[in-house]
Amino acid sequence: MNRPLIPMIDKAIKIIEESNNIYIASHVQPDGDSIGSILALGMAIKKVKKEVNIIKVDDIPVDYSFLPKLEIIREYDVENNIDIFISLDSSDLDRLGIGKQFALKANKVINLDHHITNGNFGDINIVSSSSAATGEIVYEFIKRMEIKIDRDMATCLYTAISTDTGSFMYCNTTYKTHLIAAELLKLGIDKDYINRRLYQSKSIERVNLFISSLNKLEYFLDGKIGITVVTQDMLKDNNAKLEDTEGVISFIRDIDSIEVACLLKEINDKETKISMRSKKYVDVSAICDRFNGGGHKRAAGCTIYNKIDIAKELILKEIKNSF
Ligand code: 5GP
Ligand code: MN
Repeated sequence: MNRPLIPMIDKAIKIIEESNNIYIASHVQPDGDSIGSILALGMAIKKVKKEVNIIKVDDIPVDYSFLPKLEIIREYDVENNIDIFISLDSSDLDRLGIGKQFALKANKVINLDHHITNGNFGDINIVSSSSAATGEIVYEFIKRMEIKIDRDMATCLYTAISTDTGSFMYCNTTYKTHLIAAELLKLGIDKDYINRRLYQSKSIERVNLFISSLNKLEYFLDGKIGITVVTQDMLKDNNAKLEDTEGVISFIRDIDSIEVACLLKEINDKETKISMRSKKYVDVSAICDRFNGGGHKRAAGCTIYNKIDIAKELILKEIKNSF
């Protein structure tokens, strides 16, 4: 158990017990950690409370379509009498999309997250940047609630932790990560099926987009920086979606000389989404913070409200300055 978090977790459990109308949401452009976490916590609280609503703030990538109980993530209209809003895996309110409206209406906001850039925007903040995934904190939360973790919840938590640690490889992985994963395996999850669905089910469209994006890879600073793009034209040409960029950036970081990998995704001619990764020493969350984004030291993101060519110049300048 993550000892410093216990008082906050206990406080949150107490107010959950005293509440009836609870909403849960995570960030837009959801990943495995955010979806796995909202599903697992949603299922857990549903065992003791009827009124738990999990808000759909964005489309769910096909990668996670195998997760159990996905149908409990639904669209809701904002209402006035919200007892508690629980934010999972989101470092600020703006990242919640429509979820922000629910947070603003709620009597109490519980902010449960592992991003180093988390702004502690909740009434109760359960924030641990040493946790590899929000799913790890949710695991501890459910244990503390003394709710039995079933196979469906375990599948969601394993997905959350596996995806945010790059299959237990990234430097955020700790002995605790492995202990939790071991407990989840003990609960009888089908890890081979989960791994196949998460890592061995790429569509041909995704592979084609990957190839065209790597064809645009450029190196700077003696190959320490690798930067590439995915434009709307590239998506169209390959019949792919934005979620199909998954895998490009980690591949670039895997290159021997690379310290910082950067992927620019063209949303439209006024908006560019940026993903960044580092390997050993550059703090990419600090770079993204300068553009009102955030994340972790080795994985972060931001949005630059400009066209992709300009965004590239702006971000490249900041990356170079960070060496
Ligand atoms: P990704 O590159 O996979 O989208 O995101 C990498 C990490 O940075 C994730 O932990 C993600 O939550 C965080 N992140 C990505 N984009 C943003 C952003 O615009 N703002 C903040 N605060 N965090 C972001
Ligand atoms: Mn996460």
